[in-house]
Order: sequence, then C-alpha cells, then structure tokens
Amino acid sequence: MTDQTLAVENLAVRYGGVTAVRSVSFTVAPGQSVGLIGANGAGKTSTLRALMGLVPRAGGTVRFGSRDLGRVAARNMVRLGIGYVPEGRHVFAGLPVEKNLLLGAYASGWGPECREALASVYELFPVLAQMRGRLAGALSGGQQQMLAIGRALMARPVLLLLDEPSMGLSPKLVEVILGALQRLRGEGLSLLLVEQNAMLTFEVTSESIVLENGEVAMTGTSAALRADPRIRRIYLGL
Ligand code: ATP
Repeated sequence: MTDQTLAVENLAVRYGGVTAVRSVSFTVAPGQSVGLIGANGAGKTSTLRALMGLVPRAGGTVRFGSRDLGRVAARNMVRLGIGYVPEGRHVFAGLPVEKNLLLGAYASGWGPECREALASVYELFPVLAQMRGRLAGALSGGQQQMLAIGRALMARPVLLLLDEPSMGLSPKLVEVILGALQRLRGEGLSLLLVEQNAMLTFEVTSESIVLENGEVAMTGTSAALRADPRIRRIYLGL
C-alpha cells in the first residue's frame, strides 16, 4: 500500500508583511486523528488553507505520502484522497441537498460507488436523507454542516480536513458532529480537525497541536493536553 501520511514541515504563511504562521510541523499518519487548536487568529485556518494550496506558502513543505502537495492544485487534492470541509460550510444554497452531495462525487463519477457513498452519508446523517429534496439554503446551520461533511465524504477520502465544524452550533448539534467524527475515525479515516472548541477536539483526536500566534506552542496526546493545567485554564475554561 502506498504511504498516505500527511507531513507538514516548517510551514509558513504571510499576508503582506504579516507572518500568520511560522515553522509549523506535524504529521497525520493513516488512521490517525489529529487536532489543531488555538484561539481566534492563532493561524489555524491559514495552516489548513496553506495545506490545501488555497493561500500561498511562504515557506516549508507539505507532503502526502511521496507527493509534494505544493505541486497539486486544490481541486485535484480530492483525487489523491484528501477531503476538505471549509470554514463556513459553503454549501450550494440554491441546489437540493442530494444534488449538493452528488457534486461531491464529481471526481469519482456517478457509478455504483457513488450510490454506496450516498447511502453511507445518509446513514451517518439520517436528517439529510429526510431532507434530500430540500434546497440546501433552507437547512439549519447544523444541517448545513452535516451536508458539508457529507459532500466531502462522497469522494471517499482517506484523509479529511475539517475547519471549525462546531462553529456557531448549539451544544446538541455539536454532539451530533462529534458522534459522526468519532464514527468516521472508528472506520479508519484519517482526520485533521481545526477547532476553537478544545473539548470537542480532545474527544475526537489522539494527538493535538496548540497554535499560538502562528507557532506551535504545545503538542502531545489529546489526553495529556486535556489534563494539562495551562490548557485547562486557557482552552477549557476550567
Ligand atoms: P479563526 O479561529 O478566527 O479562524 P485562526 O486561528 O484560524 O482564527 P487565521 O484565520 O489563520 O487564524 O489568522 C491568522 C492571522 O492571520 C490573524 O492575525 C489574521 O488576522 C491574519 N489573516 C488571516 N487571513 C488574512 C488575510 N487574508 N489577509 C491578512 N491577514 C490575514
């Protein structure tokens, strides 16, 4: 089997003269679930967008197995098995739920595999099956988040990158997203979860990285970080 480890080394992102991310390194091995946490503005989204090639890298390398992702356009990452759920969901509001999901399979085609993928998305999020004919714009924020995750899953990724899936959701819906991510993890999908919600992240991931001012401030197992007094005070409010 080909190696499908995501390896980020010394990543840097600059906006004009402002350095948003510097010297960020981490890996996500196959089947591993890694969290990237930090306060507002810590550089989490910039890191993820730089991985996807959606903002230019000012330095560093990003590899997926033997591939240099610096040479792969964002739209082609899906063919390598990398799924991306952007911040703010970005569903196609004017299209029905099912059409949104089918568009997620554009790279792999609409054959039997696509029908299987659709069935497993509906099993993961039964509410989407109930609403399959509704316009995506008519869904609640939580349902749109499920749709955004479902759409990324339609391409059958091996690695899923998620940017703040819990943002703006009620605690009950955060639980639904948490349950879905835990299930996907159990199925062997590799996850890179970017979150301000540290508690959610620690529940879903085995390792976490704490970003502060664009730099890695701490890394460790999610269990150890969750027990750390500084993390408890700053990120868990305990
Ligand atoms: P959030 O939780 O708000 O998404 P974040 O940890 O994801 O925060 P980033 O959005 O990556 O942080 O922002 C990191 C820094 O880069 C911040 O200081 C932000 O103001 C700055 N920044 C982000 N995007 C741009 C941009 N397009 N142009 C200029 N500065 C930017």
